[in-house]
Amino acid sequence: MSTITVQNELNVYESAEARFEMAARKLGLEDGLYKYLKYPSKEITLYIPAALDNGKLEVFKGYRVLHSTIRGPGKGGIRFSPDVTLEEVRALAAWMTWKCAVVNIPFGGAKGGVICDPAEHSHAVIERITRRYTAELSEWLGPERDVPAPDMGTNEQTMAWVMDTYSMHVRQATTAVVTGKPLDLGGSLGRREATGRGLLMVTNRALAKLGRRPESTRVVIQGFGNVGMFAAKLMHEAGYKIVGLADISGALYNEKGLDIPAAIRWVHGDKKPLSDFSGGARMSAHGVIFQPCDVLVPAATENQITSDNAQDVQASILIEGANGPTTAPADAILDEKGVFVIPDILGNAGGVTVSYFEWVQDRQGFFWRESEVNERLQDVMDRSFDDVVRYAESHKVNNRIAAYMVAIDRVARALKLRGIYA
Ligand code: NAD
Repeated sequence: MSTITVQNELNVYESAEARFEMAARKLGLEDGLYKYLKYPSKEITLYIPAALDNGKLEVFKGYRVLHSTIRGPGKGGIRFSPDVTLEEVRALAAWMTWKCAVVNIPFGGAKGGVICDPAEHSHAVIERITRRYTAELSEWLGPERDVPAPDMGTNEQTMAWVMDTYSMHVRQATTAVVTGKPLDLGGSLGRREATGRGLLMVTNRALAKLGRRPESTRVVIQGFGNVGMFAAKLMHEAGYKIVGLADISGALYNEKGLDIPAAIRWVHGDKKPLSDFSGGARMSAHGVIFQPCDVLVPAATENQITSDNAQDVQASILIEGANGPTTAPADAILDEKGVFVIPDILGNAGGVTVSYFEWVQDRQGFFWRESEVNERLQDVMDRSFDDVVRYAESHKVNNRIAAYMVAIDRVARALKLRGIYA
């Protein structure tokens, strides 16, 4: 596997592009298709006026990038964060195209973001920003056009406001315009846990392939929010030994295993910092990644494993919960160490898969039992894992490049069938 060089390793757009390029080259993708798939189909910049609680008017900058609608409507979250940039949103939109294609669900890719810090604003201000953002985009969104979902800084309530605003504009209740909604508004059972559950499913599959058992598998999870908390809960229930846990406040490590139900109550019930929880040695949220374990699940944020530190990863299995936790130049180091990697576009695809189920249920007006949702998710994750790992073995590439190749090939085939409308 050749090393990927990029100018700025920590630029997620460069990392995403470098992997796309490597996979496209290995696929022998013709030049025109390469250009078509490399660039987004649309980038919208918005200036969103919103009254603050003190009566002053503020203007927030926001984006929606539609990368592809080749295989179906755009699909991707809306991020509210002070760090949002157009480049980041563009990278995340392309990732959504590849993620939806790798699990073979009929969506393209999109992403949105608003430069604002939700922690600094009241509920009312966030509602006004969300509604104006949605109203400005109302002609571009829609169940058959572009279907947002929650991402960092947004949640079920934000999605309810998106659904309501869009519905007011089109003059009909349109639940399928957005996923990750509350259950009372057409949300799906199992959606909240879906990304963590998908991570458990691919980890189980990886263990079965490598001839290991959960009971003798030590896991470190970085991130204890929606993805990391449910991954920890479900892995603990499945018999894995969670030896390390981190959130933004810090980390804990105990080779004998941490008390996960108590940690969940501490952080998510009592709202106390994880770093004050007892039962393990305290360390930095980044340091825990390099502690002894068998499975490492980065489920917090990007750029955690880089060319500077990949050598220090002790896990033999890396299951990516976050988007972009490993930089492109770190891939070759992990390959050399023989780490079995399940890349983000496969590992964390449980979330978008159950979003797809939510969209299907909304359009049918017929809702499934949680067990049905989970069974269908299991089918998708198992099949996708097998597709990627088989492809990697037969084409002698790592799992990440295989996932990109499977995805790009599916999108390119659909594009060839549709042809170019000129
Ligand atoms: P979240 O906001 O619910 O939780 C994030 C967690 O990470 C929190 O526990 C936070 O304290 C911790 N964290 C943040 N920065 C950290 C740092 N520097 N070091 C250690 N911990 C840190 O977010 P989430 O929904 O769990 O998303 C986490 C990641 O997974 C993001 O990259 C997101 O894009 C990705 N993702 C989420 C979903 C989903 O369904 N929620 C689906 C696919 C991918």
